Amino acid sequence: MTDMLFFDGGLLTRATTLAYLAAGLLFILALASLSKHETAKRGNTFGAVGMLIALVATIALALGSEPGQGVLVTFLLIALAMGIGGAIGTVMAKRVEMTGMPELIAMLHSFVGLAAVLVGFNSYLAPDATAHALGTFHLGEIFLGIFIGAVTFTGSIVAYLKLSAKISGKPLTLPARNWLNLAALLVSLALMVVFMLTEEGSLLSWAALLAMTVIALLLGLHLVAAIGGGDMPVVVSMLNSYSGWAAAAAGFMLNNDLLIITGALVGSSGAYLSWIMCKAMNRAFISVILGGFGSDSSASAAGEGEEEGTIDEVDAAAVAALLSDARRVVITPGYGMAVAQAQYPVATLTEKLREKGVEVQFGIHPVAGRLPGHMNVLLAEAKVPYDIVLEMDEINDDFPEVDVVLVIGANDTVNPAAEEPGSPIAGMPVLTVWEAGKVIVFKRSMATGYAGVQNPLFFKENTSMLFGDAKGSVEAIIQAL
Ligand code: NDP
Repeated sequence: MTDMLFFDGGLLTRATTLAYLAAGLLFILALASLSKHETAKRGNTFGAVGMLIALVATIALALGSEPGQGVLVTFLLIALAMGIGGAIGTVMAKRVEMTGMPELIAMLHSFVGLAAVLVGFNSYLAPDATAHALGTFHLGEIFLGIFIGAVTFTGSIVAYLKLSAKISGKPLTLPARNWLNLAALLVSLALMVVFMLTEEGSLLSWAALLAMTVIALLLGLHLVAAIGGGDMPVVVSMLNSYSGWAAAAAGFMLNNDLLIITGALVGSSGAYLSWIMCKAMNRAFISVILGGFGSDSSASAAGEGEEEGTIDEVDAAAVAALLSDARRVVITPGYGMAVAQAQYPVATLTEKLREKGVEVQFGIHPVAGRLPGHMNVLLAEAKVPYDIVLEMDEINDDFPEVDVVLVIGANDTVNPAAEEPGSPIAGMPVLTVWEAGKVIVFKRSMATGYAGVQNPLFFKENTSMLFGDAKGSVEAIIQAL
């Protein structure tokens, strides 16, 4: 049986194709399930089982195509690579805080990009016989794979640096930056023609490939460096999409159908997510890509620290009294809830208020936090019932009928400045919390949010500030209740 499995290429190839098909279906089911709270856990399981099947099938195929003594060496090499990768991955996953997830994801995207670049060069240096038979077409695959991979690689590194605040989030606005991008694309296209038409392995073809790699690396760097302000959510999902296309390109180079399917699924779902994020921020996808957002003079005019009136400060006991008298309360969480890890006391507070007969709901802005779905994940983790967690569109018309809104660590997503023309976040739909009877803002200081725009909500007559770490503040309210 072992002989048959390892040496009968026909049987092994068929079994692998079947396994790939099953894995592909499981990945599609995973994506479909991940789109709803109720089925998200199941979606994760589908994805994990699909990946396990894919791994086993790929390893079996790699071993099967190396009959004889090569099997052991190949097996040991795969085991070693998986052992090292798995160990690093486990440590990183255990260490990362929920607030560090966006950076980690950006970093992981850069690995996919780098892998595509390495696979591309490897494919050129040591071509697989089947792929090589494709001739010029295969050269095109290599060129495109390296191009997409290199853009994804440096783009993701810049995104990682921006999201982790290791470099400024401000957009880099070089003069004629759009022309620079266009020139990079056109020169790369010309180099592709040279690469595909010159003799394989010749000096000229290598020069074309290497020149394009350098241009693509710089293009990735520049594309993401030029994007700033509140546009970063789109960058995260856009790089997610690029990493998918890079994986699909690697699939073509390696002649691996599953990698093509998976890459295309990630690429297209990432593109769709980018579209959703753009819609949530009322921005055109193309203007996000062209960058420079948040760099105009109005950004600094409405910028950090500018006072806009007087504020009213309250303490936890007063908020507890207010909540006890309320009939309907809406909680709008933001990035600060993630920083404070306040989701658990928030869940307890919700439970307590509901026991008292107060109607409690959550209003979730699509770009709240630093990751698509960030708030939903935190609330699900704290076991807040799904049916009281509403999207912005579902709750925005209800605010005039709400007695108290608790803005827990949110800022940009509840900023009325978005409704004023000329503001750097102008046009971005926000949660219109100020239409409620009373608004309590939980934060530590008067600092601005991610987009660096002052928030007039804090100075409104029906707003009171509860200063302090969100977790401590919510716990104090629970005590007072
Ligand atoms: P913001 O980032 O606008 O503001 C968060 C607020 O939380 C800050 O004002 C901060 O004020 C407060 N805060 C921080 N730590 C604590 C704490 N421990 N306790 C209490 N408050 C705290 O949050 P939003 O969620 O409203 O907006 C998200 C922003 O991030 C948007 O601009 C969005 O475009 C951007 N973004 C979103 C991504 C996504 O995919 N969702 C990805 C990348 C960017 P203080 O320091 O005074 O406490």
